[in-house]
Amino acid sequence: MDAEIGVIGLGTMGSMTMWQLAKARVNAIGFEQFGIGHDRSAAGGETRMFRTAYKEGKQYVPLLKDAYMLWRELESETGNELLQLTKGLIIGDPNSGTFKNVRRSIQAYNLEHKLLTNKEAEHRFYQHKLFENDQIMIDGAAGYLRSQYAIVSAVSRAIELGATIYSHTEVDTITSDEDGVTIYAEGERYRVQKVIITAGPWATNFIGEFTSFLEVRRLVNAWFLPKDMESFREGDFPVFIRENVNNSYYGFPLIDGNMVKLGLRATAAHRLTDAASYIRDVTSEEIHHFKHLVNRDLPGLHSDPSRMEAFMELYTKDHHPIIGKLPHDHRVIVLTGFSGHGFKMATVMGRIAAELALHGETHYDISLFAPKRFVNLGVM
Ligand SMILES: Cc1cc2nc3c(=O)[nH]c(=O)nc-3n(C[C@H](O)[C@H](O)[C@H](O)COP(=O)(O)OP(=O)(O)OC[C@H]3O[C@@H](n4cnc5c(N)ncnc54)[C@H](O)[C@@H]3O)c2cc1C
Repeated sequence: MDAEIGVIGLGTMGSMTMWQLAKARVNAIGFEQFGIGHDRSAAGGETRMFRTAYKEGKQYVPLLKDAYMLWRELESETGNELLQLTKGLIIGDPNSGTFKNVRRSIQAYNLEHKLLTNKEAEHRFYQHKLFENDQIMIDGAAGYLRSQYAIVSAVSRAIELGATIYSHTEVDTITSDEDGVTIYAEGERYRVQKVIITAGPWATNFIGEFTSFLEVRRLVNAWFLPKDMESFREGDFPVFIRENVNNSYYGFPLIDGNMVKLGLRATAAHRLTDAASYIRDVTSEEIHHFKHLVNRDLPGLHSDPSRMEAFMELYTKDHHPIIGKLPHDHRVIVLTGFSGHGFKMATVMGRIAAELALHGETHYDISLFAPKRFVNLGVM
C-alpha cells in the first residue's frame, strides 16, 4: 500500500479532507490536476459567502455551526485570517420561498437576526435601491471566506502534519478490488485502502452512474468599482443575497482590493454538457445583465464591470450534495454536487469525509445527502 487513504481533487472539499486526515495522523495521499488554490473550479474568484440563517434548509444549521468552529480552528493552526463575519443581508419579498426558509432556520435554532423596517433598511443600507415589497433581514452570523487562501492553508497544514500531495497530477482512473483501490495518474499507479472522490465539477468522470442526476453549471462573477469607496467597505456594506423574481444574485463588500463582487445565482439555463466544455470568457449578454442589475439596484457602483470571470460547479437534481460510500463499493467515498452552496461547510465536510473513510460512518446526520437516494430512483 502507498497510503491508507487517497483523495482525488484538492479543491474545496479535498483540501479540508486532507487537513482532517492529517490531523488524525492517517497516512494519506492527495492528487490535484492543477496547482493548489487554482482559480478554475468551484472555489475561484477569491471569496465565498458564509451564512447561517440558511435558505437551503434548516437541516444544514448544525453542520454550519460546526463548520464555523472548524474554520476558526484552521485559522488558529495556520495563523491565517480566513473567515470574516460582516453580518449578512437577505433582501427581497418577505413572502418568497427564500425568506420563508430563512425564517424556519432562525426559528428552529434561535439564530441571531433582525428584520428591518422599510425606513431602517433605506437609511442603514442606502447603497441598495429597494422595490416596494422588498424587505431586509440581517443574518447575525454571516460574512465571507477567503476561498483560495483557505484551500492553500488547509493543504499546507496537511503537508506540515505529514500528508503527501501531488499537485499538477491528474488522476485518469481508479479500480477497486477486494484488497484495495488502485489510482492511475500520469503513468503511475498508487495503491490505497480507500479513496475519497472530491473532484467537484469533474466528479462525473469517476461516478458516471450518477450522471443523469447531475449537471455542471457555469456561474459568472463580476467586479465593480464604487463611485465612493467609503460606502462599500465591509462595516457599512455587508455581504448580501438579493432575491428578485427573475434574477437572484449576491454580493460582497470591498475586500482586500478595491472592488465590489457580484454573482448571479445559476439556473438550469447555465448548464454545460460537462466540465470539459467550460469556457472562461464571458458573453456580451452576461455583461449587459450585470450592468442592468447595477443600474437598477446599486447606483453607487460604476455599472461597467472592471473584471468578469466564469466558474463551474456541480449541481444535483435536488440541490443537496452527494456524500457517502458508493452503494456498490464501500472502498469509494464521494463528496460532490454541492449545488452552489458548499464552500461555507467545507471544513465540516472534511471531517465527515475523514470519519467515513476511517470508521465507515460519521456522527453527523447526513441522511439527506445519501448517494442511495438516487439509486432508489433507479439510477443504478
Ligand atoms: C461562482 C461561485 C460562487 C459560489 N458562491 C458560494 C458562496 O458564496 N458560498 C458557498 O458556501 N458556496 C458557494 N459556491 C459553491 C462552492 O464554491 C462549491 O460548492 C464548492 O467550492 C465545491 O467544492 P468541490 O470540492 O466540490 O469542488 P472544487 O473546489 O472545484 O474542487 C474539485 C477539485 O478537484 C480537482 N480535480 C478534478 N478532477 C481531478 C482529477 N481527475 N485529478 C486530480 N484532480 C482533479 C479540480 O481541479 C478541483 O481542484 C459558489 C460556487 C461558484 C462556482
